[in-house]
Amino acid sequence: MRWEFGRRSRNVEDRRGARISRPVVGGGIGLILALIIALLGGDPGILLDQAPPEAYPPGQTEVVPANDEMAEFVSVVLADTEDTWSALFQQMGGAYREPTLVLFSGAVESGCGFAEAAVGPFYCPLDEKVYIDLSFYEDLQNRHQAPGDFAQAYVIAHEVGHHVQNLLGISGQVRDLQRQVGQAEANQLSVRLELQADCFSGIWAHHADRSRQILEAGDVEEALNAASSIGDDRLQRESRGYVVPESFTHGSSAQRVRWFKQGIQTGDPAQCDTFSTTSL
Ligand SMILES: [Zn+2]
Repeated sequence: MRWEFGRRSRNVEDRRGARISRPVVGGGIGLILALIIALLGGDPGILLDQAPPEAYPPGQTEVVPANDEMAEFVSVVLADTEDTWSALFQQMGGAYREPTLVLFSGAVESGCGFAEAAVGPFYCPLDEKVYIDLSFYEDLQNRHQAPGDFAQAYVIAHEVGHHVQNLLGISGQVRDLQRQVGQAEANQLSVRLELQADCFSGIWAHHADRSRQILEAGDVEEALNAASSIGDDRLQRESRGYVVPESFTHGSSAQRVRWFKQGIQTGDPAQCDTFSTTSL
């Protein structure tokens, strides 16, 4: 991916190295946060497993480390999603509100509550921020065999896709619906939400390449490989040895690849309607 000369975003909040007290999430707040994390495709068990809290001391101090290449890269990708989605929202007759991207290490106190790096990158609709611990990229490369800078960009564009869903009111509607249905159907809705975020990620790649020629040979394959490596079927097979499709919250590898492709090939957000299609 050609990114070195790209614009840097002003919306990166660097909280790496910040000290944060151990969990404080319990009871109602914990459940709500677990729900949001589950909706966004994370593992709510990470929160639910925590012991009940005694107090609520955020106790966080900001330390801004020197810029490094990874942070620069993330900032350029974020800026590129800003340019792309601002233009698309304008075409749709709306205004795009830029999300903030928070870099953290280990654990973070988000607008949706406390989260550990193990939940993976996530988006919090309450503060409109994307949270990422950059060590996830090492996981992507080593544990999921999905290396490459474009694979890393795809991950950010996917989280920004959740922000777009939030601005369009889609995720709110899905959350309302999920409250009225059983677990299997709620999971099915999460899958559709996740696949749409993959499609939106492809939309970004399509337009960014058209206007700024960011793609190099092999980039699309990197993203497709990443989408495929973090599909629920692959993750489940790796972690428990078998696959339970009803418990999927992200979609299978093939579905993730299909919807990313749909986005990158069409460049049209209207083609990302994962909710009315009968076959995902
Ligand atoms: Zn997601």
